[in-house]
Amino acid sequence: MSIPEIPAVVALPHSDRASDQYESGDASGAGGISAEDDLYSPGDESAQVASRWVEPGVVYLVATPIGNLADMTERAIAVLRGVDAIACEDTRHVRKLLDHFGVRNRVFSLHEHNEAMRSAEIGIRLSAGESIALVSDAGTPAISDPGSLLVRTLKAQGHRVSPIPGACAAIAALSASGLDSTHFWFEGFLPAKTRARESRLQALATGTSTLVFYEAPHRIQAMVSSLKDVLGGAREAVLARELTKRFESLDSGTLESLNDALAQGVIPARGEFVVLVAGTSEQQHESEAQIPVDLLLETLLAEQAPPSMIARVIARLSSRKRNDVYDELLKRGRANDA
Ligand code: SAM
Repeated sequence: MSIPEIPAVVALPHSDRASDQYESGDASGAGGISAEDDLYSPGDESAQVASRWVEPGVVYLVATPIGNLADMTERAIAVLRGVDAIACEDTRHVRKLLDHFGVRNRVFSLHEHNEAMRSAEIGIRLSAGESIALVSDAGTPAISDPGSLLVRTLKAQGHRVSPIPGACAAIAALSASGLDSTHFWFEGFLPAKTRARESRLQALATGTSTLVFYEAPHRIQAMVSSLKDVLGGAREAVLARELTKRFESLDSGTLESLNDALAQGVIPARGEFVVLVAGTSEQQHESEAQIPVDLLLETLLAEQAPPSMIARVIARLSSRKRNDVYDELLKRGRANDA
């Protein structure tokens, strides 16, 4: 079987300028990586480092920075240098990143519209002993980004998939949010249309885990307004904006106060956002859940359903024990008879 030709194979020119989307250091110039600090200039030593981390027949999911180039890991650079080619969402975007780290390698596109075709091609290349890296525009591939179809396809074919971990906006935001991070639900992007968005939020409204969303700046106001309307203005939340960049901010408050802050421009609706919302508390959850259960119990009683059947139904639909419900019904019956 011949190895498929993947177009857009590019030899990378070197440039001293990193992407405008990235911070390469703080205002004082301390702490960042500039092109002059080139950690790995191409050469024999970097080739050795690369070969230590790259094996033939493996696809590597390589995380890249979400705004600050200094968050790129040594192993990510070595793997990007050592693989046979790099699949990426946008070849021009990734070239800026690779340029910055002096990585000269071939790149080709893999995005949601060609992922199935590329997955098949990459499978053939791995079988022929090549190694491939996948990167997304920023952060961890396959997290609200292309990659999961590729991973599923390759694993089903018996290929090895290896993660090269690094930045992920959701995890960075959660870790610094101050909300419960023991249990969380990663939702990613909600639907853009209000009705679909609010109906999805209804389904999430009674969960006790912290909710984690991604949102684009042009939708952030409408999205937070929907959160307030469906989950209630009193819920605690955090807006994590421009993480790892110069104007990073993490604003905590209620959904009501954060919605107001966005509407008044106190929190600018610009840049990239992770939105985190506290789960509903167990107590709240129970009291909310009790309303329909009590109503159901009364309805079944009014319909003169037998106590054993009522107890069975209520026990199945709630946290109440069958015997407890049954005893309660018997007591009620005796009280009514007296
Ligand atoms: N795969 C990426 C990851 O691991 O975080 C996420 C990709 S998703 C297409 C892009 C979304 O991630 C943005 O719309 C925003 O919600 C969030 N995001 C990315 N970078 C961010 C940053 N620096 N600060 C806050 N949110 C960010």
